[in-house]
Amino acid sequence: MSQDPDCIFCKIVAGELPCFEIYQDDETLAFMDINPANTGHALAITKHHWQDLHATPDAQLSATIATAKRVAGALQAELGPDGINLAQANGKGAAQSVMHFHMHILPRREGDELKLNWGINPGDMDVIGALAKRIAARIAES
Ligand code: AMP
Ligand code: ZN
Repeated sequence: MSQDPDCIFCKIVAGELPCFEIYQDDETLAFMDINPANTGHALAITKHHWQDLHATPDAQLSATIATAKRVAGALQAELGPDGINLAQANGKGAAQSVMHFHMHILPRREGDELKLNWGINPGDMDVIGALAKRIAARIAES
């Protein structure tokens, strides 16, 4: 697994930084975003370090969207949102802040007026951690 020692997501993959993990397989890892744009905001990442969409091989893109689909199903079952957006940023102009390929899974509520460049607003770790357990259990039983 190629890693970048300065990359926060590589450190999470390596177990050097904690995360609220909800799923992993050989190629991908999914965990809760700690600055959630909406309740249940989760991330699906490649385990290998690739900077963005352009750098990521098709097989790992497929693996990541399959993981995003799995997470989206669990979020739908657990939270019953009105919809779910998948979002993915490439480059600073697109507001990519972590230069390691990842997809956002964003539960939506009608009228939530979520902006896709949502800024960084720290969440409640107890709330996020409890939700991570519920989503992980949904995935495990699916
Ligand atoms: P982007 O701005 O599209 O690159 O998305 C990066 C996301 O990673 C942001 O939504 C951050 O809130 C999130 N993030 C950064 N550090 C962590 C972390 N340690 N654990 C979970 N999410 C993180
Ligand atoms: Zn990385």
